[in-house]
Amino acid sequence: MGPDGAVGSMGTARPDAVPPSASGTSLSDLARRAGVALEAAQLSRFDAYRSLLLDRGAKVNLTAISDPEEVDRRLFLDALRMVPALDEYRRLAGADSSKRAKRLKLVDVGSGAGFPGLVLKIARPDLDVTLIEATGKKATFLQDAIAALELDGVVAIHARAEDVAHDARQREKHDLATARAVAALPALLELCAPLLRLGGWAFFPKGLEIGDELAAGQRAAPLVGARLVASDPLPGSDTRLVIVEKTGLTHPRYPRRAGIPAREPLGGNKVAKGKTRASNAPTSADDATGIE
Ligand code: SAM
Repeated sequence: MGPDGAVGSMGTARPDAVPPSASGTSLSDLARRAGVALEAAQLSRFDAYRSLLLDRGAKVNLTAISDPEEVDRRLFLDALRMVPALDEYRRLAGADSSKRAKRLKLVDVGSGAGFPGLVLKIARPDLDVTLIEATGKKATFLQDAIAALELDGVVAIHARAEDVAHDARQREKHDLATARAVAALPALLELCAPLLRLGGWAFFPKGLEIGDELAAGQRAAPLVGARLVASDPLPGSDTRLVIVEKTGLTHPRYPRRAGIPAREPLGGNKVAKGKTRASNAPTSADDATGIE
């Protein structure tokens, strides 16, 4: 929440708006307009990642997207738009003296085919990234992509976040957390807050119209030692970025066992299913909308 108690702007970076309908624009240009400069080595990693996705996506039903430009616009760019805000909070997290000399750790819950976690790793290689994915074929794809892209400091774990968050090697060990199109805010908070260290931050891209979900998130956040600090629209997109601070230790009872955080959301008043979904681009062919 802002100083006035309302969830709103916290002064995140303001890159130029990228017209969603622009076409024929290179990933480099799209990223630059979103406030992210990509070097040649990063662009070649994105080229390789795009090829892998298009190749494997068709074979094992990873993504419904088959057009390379759509991969750039709906998958890569959506994740890259988070980078300016992430950088701003990275500086805050890095200002903590105990972290100054260390690499910051980011955990991405429900990565699917790597969104946003793997994109953020390519864009910010100095992050140590953990991708958590419950579906075997997607976790295998992530492990193969990490090897093919020759990335260091990133691992993909095939597990449910409810279980990983009770593993002492992961619990309260991460500086930053992300999750896109995985669940409504109360469930995301229950899954991600236990993974964050005190003073860490979580970033959840969501649709623009999330009034009820935001209210539910505000009820749930204090129950897991978290606080909603912002929900700014990302320029040039139909996404707003909900930003959460880990303000207190999370009780060991959280997260509850697999499936309960989504079925019985903390703070009560289950959000209608349609409102739990981010309006981000579908990335999976596993259900009619492309979003599980
Ligand atoms: N984040 C990716 C994206 O934006 O393209 C994937 C979104 S997909 C709709 C949701 C993913 O979250 C699925 O791959 C699913 O297996 C995974 N997932 C859902 N609940 C999970 C949990 N509790 N722990 C780990 N993964 C989970």
